Amino acid sequence: MDKWQVARSLDEIAKYVDLTEPNRFKAMAFEKAARAIASLDRDPADLIESGDLQKTPGIGKTTASVIEELVRTGSSRYLEQLRQKYPSGIFELLRVPKLGLKKIGLLHEKLGIGSLDELEEACRSGKVRALRGFGEKTEQQILKGIAFARKRESQFLLPVGIEIGEAIREQLAQYDEIENAEVSGSVRRRLEVVRNVNIAVAARDVRAAQKIFTKIVADLEGLDETTFKGTARNNVEVIFHVAKPAEFGSTLFRTTGSAEFVEAFGDIKAAKSEEQVFERAEKVWVAPERRENADDLRRKKARSLVRLEDLRGTFHVHSTFSDGRNTILEMLTAARERGFEYVGMSDHSQSAFYAGGLTPDGVRSQQAEIAKQEPAVAPMRVFRGTEADILADGSIDYDEATLNRFDFVIASIHSRFGMTPEEMTERILKALDNPHVTFIGHLTGRLLLAREGYTMDFDRVFEKAGARGVMIEINGNPRRLDIDWRLAGRALDRGVRFSINPDAHSTREYNALISGTWVARKAGLSPKEIFNTKPAEEVAEFLRRRA
Ligand SMILES: [Zn+2]
Ligand SMILES: [Zn+2]
Repeated sequence: MDKWQVARSLDEIAKYVDLTEPNRFKAMAFEKAARAIASLDRDPADLIESGDLQKTPGIGKTTASVIEELVRTGSSRYLEQLRQKYPSGIFELLRVPKLGLKKIGLLHEKLGIGSLDELEEACRSGKVRALRGFGEKTEQQILKGIAFARKRESQFLLPVGIEIGEAIREQLAQYDEIENAEVSGSVRRRLEVVRNVNIAVAARDVRAAQKIFTKIVADLEGLDETTFKGTARNNVEVIFHVAKPAEFGSTLFRTTGSAEFVEAFGDIKAAKSEEQVFERAEKVWVAPERRENADDLRRKKARSLVRLEDLRGTFHVHSTFSDGRNTILEMLTAARERGFEYVGMSDHSQSAFYAGGLTPDGVRSQQAEIAKQEPAVAPMRVFRGTEADILADGSIDYDEATLNRFDFVIASIHSRFGMTPEEMTERILKALDNPHVTFIGHLTGRLLLAREGYTMDFDRVFEKAGARGVMIEINGNPRRLDIDWRLAGRALDRGVRFSINPDAHSTREYNALISGTWVARKAGLSPKEIFNTKPAEEVAEFLRRRA
């Protein structure tokens, strides 16, 4: 087996382990090993021979023995066992929203269902509703979910594309024959969900470049003289676009897209750099994130888009007091280490009992803990907040006395997603009337590739948020990236301001500020429109006036 086959087998094991074990650690170990093997520049057989396999970062004792068996025998007994236990189509079922492992197990056990087609057939013939705990409503939901899953076939989240694209770019950089390489396409445009990874490559010798690609991806095939397609881990399609160094800029530009933007741009002259492409066409620079439509091409001056370095602080941070994985002190310390001037702690409110929401008493002890720990992170400022549920009737999940204890309130919807757009609009408008509300959290509740967000009369909501001075959060969790960048311009026109929030449930998840910033840039937002680019004093003053 070559490294690609080994990596694929390891990825397959990881998926089966995910089906059988609720704890992700074991699956993650196999994923990590797959990643390590795929990025090797030598054959795994060599590695085993020289005894370096277990010394390779990302490979542990268990995974090493599986890799050895795969290389020596061409198969793995462990993988074979797992394959025999389930039909091969079972993983498709995971793509149906809300269909968890437990339900999949039941459908498999009772009805022998092992693929999307079989599930669809069983729903249509009414077999699913007869199962305990399913019912007719669930059956209808599953049918809708199947359509949803089919539409999203072979799509994946942006961070997956960035990780694969960057890893390939780094690998290419090690070869002298490759003069330059950049990720292009929808990944470079920071589209939240992508279908493939495109890479623009500068090389004098196309054949030499092609040979290098075969070392980096599997199943390489030529689409034309200079374009090659292959497969990276997890079946992600990678497309290489080879250009002469003197045409690298124009190739990067063309393959970044979007098709609509490139067409509106008009004649593209060959150029070494992308800047030259814009110069030669006498057009103002447009950042890759903004190249979805022709709007920015008509501007006289380039937009100044917010950068990660512009963020001076952050809000929407959970701790172990609700459903976070790190303590208040750990979250505060991590925020200080990232150089923030301020951080706003916000655990869940009482109705979010499944997320460990705090009762008014719980709020008191959480705030006592903040008071105890904040001297350790001085002079960083710590603001006391909450992520309070917007209840079905639009009221906020705490009494007046408790709300008075907070410096800020993030109002979010975590329940009753099924309301009509009219009801949802009224619910949020009512929440906006509450004078304690500072931010609206993850406005549409969408989970990319898993759950469509609820819809509402956005313009009325933006109108009111603008008038009331309530900010709308840009939730940086890569599964949410909510609100959608397509809506942000409409909000901006109505006077809405934003905050880029990580919705961090662990110290690591402050990284969501990176993805949040992508979306803010894609939405065309500049630092002055983002609340957490402001200095601590100004932020404190704003919150004092509102609270
Ligand atoms: Zn939330
Ligand atoms: Zn949250």
